[in-house]
Amino acid sequence: MKEDILKLSGLDIAKSIKDSKISKEEVYSSFRERIDNINPRLKSFVEVYSQALTGEGDSPLSGVPIAIKDNICIKGKRITCASRILDSHISVYDATVIKKLKEAGLSIVGTTNMDEFAFGSSTENSCYGPTHNPWDLERVPGGSSGGSAAAVAARLVPFALGSDTGGSIRQPASLCGVVGFKPTYGRVSRYGLVAFGSSLDQICPITTNFVDCANLLNIICGFDERDSTSSRKEVPDFTEFLKKDINGLRIGLPEEYFAKGLDKEVENALKETINIFKRQGAKTIKISLPHTEYAVATYYIIAPSEASSNLERFDGIKYGMRKDASSLIELYKKTRAAGFGDEAKRRILIGTYSLSSGYYEAYYMRASKVRTLIKKDFEDAFKRVDVILTPTSPVPAFKIGEKTKDPLSMYLSDVYTIPVNLAGICAVSFPCGFTKNNLPIGAQLIGKAFDEGTLINAGFSFQEVTDYHKKVPVVTA
Ligand code: GLN
Repeated sequence: MKEDILKLSGLDIAKSIKDSKISKEEVYSSFRERIDNINPRLKSFVEVYSQALTGEGDSPLSGVPIAIKDNICIKGKRITCASRILDSHISVYDATVIKKLKEAGLSIVGTTNMDEFAFGSSTENSCYGPTHNPWDLERVPGGSSGGSAAAVAARLVPFALGSDTGGSIRQPASLCGVVGFKPTYGRVSRYGLVAFGSSLDQICPITTNFVDCANLLNIICGFDERDSTSSRKEVPDFTEFLKKDINGLRIGLPEEYFAKGLDKEVENALKETINIFKRQGAKTIKISLPHTEYAVATYYIIAPSEASSNLERFDGIKYGMRKDASSLIELYKKTRAAGFGDEAKRRILIGTYSLSSGYYEAYYMRASKVRTLIKKDFEDAFKRVDVILTPTSPVPAFKIGEKTKDPLSMYLSDVYTIPVNLAGICAVSFPCGFTKNNLPIGAQLIGKAFDEGTLINAGFSFQEVTDYHKKVPVVTA
């Protein structure tokens, strides 16, 4: 039973508990044993709690272990954002999603590694060192939610939460071979998520399959008066979209996403994915998203601008680290110099520059205008198609250290994921193949605002006829 349980979906584990085939304690100890054995090689956790935090409530996922990215507040626990500046900080309240998980009876086992403040695409920008990809320990798991993606891929937990500002759920999900779902902006409360880019951030689930994904979304989505950007739009029961029927679904294929720079093996896996969807009755339509080429530049003005403003609060007074100094200004300077890593400092510089008077119109305002054009590209496309299919990442998992010296090449890891955040719509990455070196390949389905259900329907149909999501990496030293 112990070994079997690791192969079950979260939903099936919860059913086994309800049917008294296994106890909550046995479930926890099975996963805990696996974490203790495998995590030292992956380094996917910042902290594994000595005892899981188990909520009393009931839901279809009660009793199932979950891991949380270390930028989401859990009352009474450390929240580090993988930054030296917060290393010793303890959350004084639960994020809304944590409250909801507890009310649903899930069992929180610990916090996962990430790029500092979610700045990055490889989980190398962590003050605790990089997380390793379970499919090849010399490679990155992607980022910034790399700890969550690696932990789920290696089945150290059935699922996890992370956050996605420019691709931080989908890109690591793609590189680790799991399902990473970014709901529409406003669908999930961001209360208690440490802010990076407030107009882009979204808390999201990482699972191995769409059944767990739909069930987790049911728990975490919904209006919250504590988040002024949270939507009042009615939340459907996402499990109703777990139907194997996509007959007539119109899938858009944007020419800009299948252009140069795309790895051959990724391209071939995407072609096969298109064929699978077609065999199930979907129709493909060639589309164009003409402003795609400006998305990365636009994002790297808007995201660092918002980040520089959000990071202002880490000043040595309110949270975490405080350096000795003889004046207040010196205290700020010393604390921030010692507390932030290189990438955080880079973003503060870029963001402060583009928001400063005289440059604001030339950079931030102009970027905001281009953002509107990118959003309009999607609105136009969705007049003709129901969903859009693209690769998630131009390349499979790269080597640790390969891109750290060249921030620009790292920034390009998210060319296919960033436009979705700029437009505020929803998207999911799911495993759609493997390279000849046994590295996972991910496909991305993009949906209209608040149309998560169609993505779940399409992804579930795909998983009903494929096995990529069932493969588990063998983690050896
Ligand atoms: N990789 C992108 C960045 O570095 C996106 C990160 C994210 O989504 N948090 O900003």
